[in-house]
Amino acid sequence: MKKIFLFDLDSTITKEEILPSISKSINKEDEMRKLTEMTMMGEISFEESFKSRVDMLKDIPVSEVAEKISNISLNQELVKFLNKHKDICYIVTGNLDVWIDKLMKKIGMENNYFCSKASVSNNKITKISKILQKDEVVAKFKDYIVAIGDGSNDYKLLEKANLGVAFGGVRNIAPSLLEVCDYAIYDEKRLAEFLERLIEE
Ligand SMILES: [Mg+2]
Repeated sequence: MKKIFLFDLDSTITKEEILPSISKSINKEDEMRKLTEMTMMGEISFEESFKSRVDMLKDIPVSEVAEKISNISLNQELVKFLNKHKDICYIVTGNLDVWIDKLMKKIGMENNYFCSKASVSNNKITKISKILQKDEVVAKFKDYIVAIGDGSNDYKLLEKANLGVAFGGVRNIAPSLLEVCDYAIYDEKRLAEFLERLIEE
């Protein structure tokens, strides 16, 4: 059966959480990091926290945020996997389209991602028009789904997937995710090799 791979973006493909790294540039790093940690550990809801985090960054021009995000460091073994298997790989992220489009282009995934959406006017975010529920993406496919993620916001994604892989190569895997995953892998190279073997099966 055909396999489709759904990848979380933050701390799965990227080597750090995206929004906290952006907040550094406006000295809101501590505030942002706290909120992100709480969200990843499941202490506050993703929607609530995401709105607050977008609010914190909404005064930075959208193009500037997109540029910064496009330069974030990446797990290259996973990027290689994405490029090699572009027809069966998708990024699934709560991040905003207007912020990550440049990064998606850079890694060749511009036609292969699902994300939250925002309206922009004069280079500023005016409204969040959609917050992506990651598990809704699983229902779009009739294939065997392999999902890869690290945070509690990946819980439903991994739960609904046929095979859930938690990745702990960047940060600690969220405790809730450890309960629902089929595998936990802590090294980027091993993860890429593991996924490669799944394709060959
Ligand atoms: Mg993540």
